[in-house]
Amino acid sequence: MNDMALGEIYTGHVSTRADDDNPAGNLLDGDTGKWEIVVGLEVHAQVASEAKLFSGASAAFGGAPNSHVSLVDAAMPGMLPVINAECVRQAVRTGLGLEAQINLRSVFDRKNYFYPDLPAGYQISQFKQPIVGAGKVVVDMPDGRAVTVAIERLHLEQDAGKSLHDQQPGKSYIDLNRAGVALMEIVSRPDLRSGDEAAAYLAKLRTILRYIGSCDGDMSQGSMRADVNVSVHKPGTTLGTRCEIKNVNSVRFVRQAVEYEARRQIGILEGGGTIVQETRLFDTDRGETRLMRSKEEAHDYRYFPDPDLLPLVLSQGDVDELARGLPELPDARKARFTSEYGLSPYDATVLTGERARADFFEAVLGRTDGKPARDPKTASNWVASELIGRLNKDGREIDESQVTAAQLGGLLDLIADGTITGRIAKDVFDEMFATGTDAAAIVEANGLRQIADTGELEAVVEKIIADNPGQAEQYRVGKTSVAGWFTGQAMKATRGKANPQIVNEILARKLGGG
Ligand code: MN
Repeated sequence: MNDMALGEIYTGHVSTRADDDNPAGNLLDGDTGKWEIVVGLEVHAQVASEAKLFSGASAAFGGAPNSHVSLVDAAMPGMLPVINAECVRQAVRTGLGLEAQINLRSVFDRKNYFYPDLPAGYQISQFKQPIVGAGKVVVDMPDGRAVTVAIERLHLEQDAGKSLHDQQPGKSYIDLNRAGVALMEIVSRPDLRSGDEAAAYLAKLRTILRYIGSCDGDMSQGSMRADVNVSVHKPGTTLGTRCEIKNVNSVRFVRQAVEYEARRQIGILEGGGTIVQETRLFDTDRGETRLMRSKEEAHDYRYFPDPDLLPLVLSQGDVDELARGLPELPDARKARFTSEYGLSPYDATVLTGERARADFFEAVLGRTDGKPARDPKTASNWVASELIGRLNKDGREIDESQVTAAQLGGLLDLIADGTITGRIAKDVFDEMFATGTDAAAIVEANGLRQIADTGELEAVVEKIIADNPGQAEQYRVGKTSVAGWFTGQAMKATRGKANPQIVNEILARKLGGG
């Protein structure tokens, strides 16, 4: 992909975040004292749509080289761009999700530069009048802080094609499949103060876009990539000169790139040098940033309004209708999960981190008379710890789970009505996870019903007491803590099926009464 097409809109390294808003633990130690890192991101997110921004060619990932290319994408003379209304709607939905100003009038500009994979010699983008203006993203940090990141703008633009230099020695090939695919460029203010914050911001942005459905967020396929602007300065002084790290394509790499780049800049400044504004790349193998080129400026691109396209005009009614169609977004859903279901902020964050997870959890809960049909905390434990924990180990998401929400709900019902013990439930779940079988069928096939028959359990307990006179004597002389050992033996003898409350009652009676 052509990097020269990306970035440069960033209007200035001016933060909206208060100086005293940054905890001391976020500062970096240098030889000359503490340094503050300042980060802003320009994220390119591919719009989820069937067709490209200005042509009817497929926007699907992959495909044989140059098989998703219309005459418009190839810039044949006389071809005219036609705006894809769905891409516009996706940009507006996203702007609403970022609580941003929607500009009812926006303008497409030509950004002129030469590159072999840009056949028109310009990229159609938005410069002075983007479709979305100022907004915000609230980022929840693991230490409990909430960092509000101001969004400067979101604009629509075309992606470029791809030059392939590694197919045949001495030749370069051009693949225009991506040329003209719609991108949303989402520009943040430099309100981030560490690699962790930058990474958490990108992850949160991805979550919001995936809730809305405006971008699939698949970073391994290039659906989201970040240009990361980093500077360092001493707290309380003016901001430093920034460097821009291009096309970082994972949350983890954003964290690493920021940390490496901040250290590099601190080293230069403490050695008496100055930072030169430049564009760098992140070498993922070495974990370091390297110089690509000195920084170009917006005026180098000779932006002007594209004469083939009228200004894009929306009505407030269009925007209101899109707002009504938005799903409940992650922040609202998290707040509701803590207030309505009494979940901890941590569990609520895990469950709302993906829309599919939150949907799954609420499907497990079920509803009767407007209230959750099953216990929310129990359901949360099973979904967040047991199911998501195991899926994570396999590198899968919840929509790839072979255990359905209805099946997990069935397991919870068997625990709640006493059919199986909590311990047996774990074994049943293992088999459900492995085979996708219903809990009730597994319980019946393996005879796993809880034993709550007092007579049957009395016989079990009596045998254990008779076989272990030493432990029974310890109990009788006052060492009652040995009761737990007896319970364990009874569970073992019944292969986990004994009702523990009934066992304890019998034990207290038999041991205490002699
Ligand atoms: Mn761009």
